This record gives sequence, C-alpha cells and structure tokens, in this order.
Amino acid sequence: MSRRPVAQINLAAIGHNLQRVQQLAPASKVLAVLKANAYGHGLVRVAQALSEADAFAVARIDEALALRTAGVVKPIVLLEGFYEAAELPILLANNLQTVVHNELQLVALEQAELDGQLKVWLKIDTGMHRLGISPEQFNEFYRRLWQCPAVQPGIRLMSHFSCADLPGAVKTSEQLTLFQQLCSDKAEQQSLANSAAIIHVPESHGDWVRPGLILHGISPFTHQQGWQHQLRPVMRLSSRLIAMRKIKQGETVGYGANWQAEQDTWIGVIAIGYGDGYPRHAVSGTPVWLAGREVQLVGRVSMDMITVDLGQQPVETIGAEAVLWGPELAIERIAKYADTIPYELLCNITPRVDYQYI
Ligand code: PLP
Repeated sequence: MSRRPVAQINLAAIGHNLQRVQQLAPASKVLAVLKANAYGHGLVRVAQALSEADAFAVARIDEALALRTAGVVKPIVLLEGFYEAAELPILLANNLQTVVHNELQLVALEQAELDGQLKVWLKIDTGMHRLGISPEQFNEFYRRLWQCPAVQPGIRLMSHFSCADLPGAVKTSEQLTLFQQLCSDKAEQQSLANSAAIIHVPESHGDWVRPGLILHGISPFTHQQGWQHQLRPVMRLSSRLIAMRKIKQGETVGYGANWQAEQDTWIGVIAIGYGDGYPRHAVSGTPVWLAGREVQLVGRVSMDMITVDLGQQPVETIGAEAVLWGPELAIERIAKYADTIPYELLCNITPRVDYQYI
C-alpha cells in the first residue's frame, strides 16, 4: 500500500482514446499534443503509449529533447517555435519541426546557415489573438519562408480556435472561414482542430488534427464527460483514509472553521491536499469516491489533507482507498466544484504524487 497519493495511468486507455480520435477524423493524421508533461500524465510514457500517432507536439524545446533522449523518433513539433537563432542547429540535429509565428523567427531563419533544412509550420492568427501572424502578413511570410534555404519545401499551415469548446460559437466558424480563405489556393498540409473541434467541427479536420485533452479521456466541453464521447479516463488519482473522528452538531472542521456540522457526524481525513495538486478551491460538497461510495468534502482543503463527511455510521476503516478522480469519479465534475478546468487540475499535480503505469 502506497503511503503517498498515487496517479495510476492506464496506458491501454490512451491507446483507446487515440483510436477514437482516428474514428472521429479518419482522413487526418494525428499530431498528439503532449505539452506540460503530457497534461500531467508523464511525457515519455504517454508518448510511448501513442505509438500509432503520426507525430507529437510539445510547447517547448526541453520537452522535445526529453522525448528524443528517451528514444522517441517520431516527428516532434514545437508549438511555441524557437526563441533565438542559436537554437536552430539544435532543432536540426534533433529533427524538431518548428512553428513560426513572428517576424523575429522569420528573420532568424532567413539569416541561418544550417547544414540542412527545417520543417516549418506557419501559424496564422485567425482570431485567437495569442500566437500567430496576422492574415495581412500571411502572403509575405509564406513567400519569404519558401525562399529560405534553411526551410524545407512544403510549409505547413496552422491556426488555433479560441472557442471550439463552445459548440456552435460564431467565432469558430469565422476563424474556420478565414483560415480556409487564406489557405484555399495553397497545396500545403493544414491543421486547425484541437480536441473540441475534432468532436464538434468536422469540417475543420484538415490534414492534421491536434488532440490533447481527449487523448487523456476527458471531455473538452464543461457540460459533458469523456464517456459521452466514448473516451476512457486515463488517470486515476487516489490516496488513503488516515483518520476518523466523530464531531458534534455545531462543531466546525478545518482552517477558517467555515464548515459546521448540522448534526453529529463522522469526519474522515484523506491524505491528499493542495501540496499534492488537489485543488485548494474545491468547495464543501465536492465528491470523493471512498471505498465504493461517494462522500463529500467538507471544510477547506489543507496542504496535505482533506476532510470528508462520512455520516452517522462510517463503514470505512483506516487505510481505505479514496479516489479523487478517475473512472469512478469524473474529473470534469471535480473541475466544476473547484471552479476550474480539467487541464489545470492535471497540470497541478506535484512531484509528491507517485505515478504507476498499468
Ligand atoms: N493545438 C495547440 C496550438 C494548442 O495550444 C493546444 C493546447 O492548448 C492543442 C492543440 C490541444 O488542445 P486540446 O487539449 O484542447 O485538444
């Protein structure tokens, strides 16, 4: 029995979710997005489980190099691109593809003297207004990249949706139309769709889809859960019941004394807290799956512990397993109680948590 919280990662579920993506977008290649330690699931192990993906995308160069060091040979795309010209030989030596989204990168490529050519993805800002060149800059960037000796022929074109998780959003169709207008006469491979668009905007699939969250079995829509899209949850975060006590009606629990028992009740203490990545903002009432039944979190989340209401007659014993999210308890539900999104819950898991791959 582990004395630390455990994140159990189901590698077969990752394979299943990839197949689901391939069913949803059968004509597209899959650029699996594995940034932020594969959404907190473990970069290298997840990449290995995704052996049927066509390529991987990470945000930054250190993530890509970690994959190469682990022996991953598939194409890797740097979604943020490079920051300075000195990185270009490293990209080339490690066969890393780069996104180009600004003038500095373009100039660095134009001036580069490399012993080979880099694969480049040109990112167009169609309305997200985060990374990407403006539609007005598109033709010039496209032409100059084609003329760059350091750039491989066949520049790939991409953009990113801002509201794909809001089905039917006008913004999504505006972005799609603009992207299609800009790229319609270009033969290059194109990519737009993140998880939400893979599910809800099939006309955006293009040559490459870029799933992140759904590979981990989670719905990108706040009103739905992964199973509703035939996805299987990958992570099961659990810990143990380490103490129980009976409190009287009117007594309070935890820091701030902000939860008060309406009747005599038993309180259970579970060994997980915000120091492990459990969300501190989870409110009283947040469900916890404890030894086969759902109980509710009461009082504030502490650094190492949470407290739950076990009711009049606890059936659990010390050491009982508590699941914070996983197949028994959808992470999408927990995110709502913590006023956040599953992405953040996953990224916040700290090194105190043990990882087990099954
Ligand atoms: N493409 C880009 C450019 C991204 O930044 C991300 C993640 O934020 C994704 C794709 C994957 O998004 P999701 O996890 O919603 O599928």
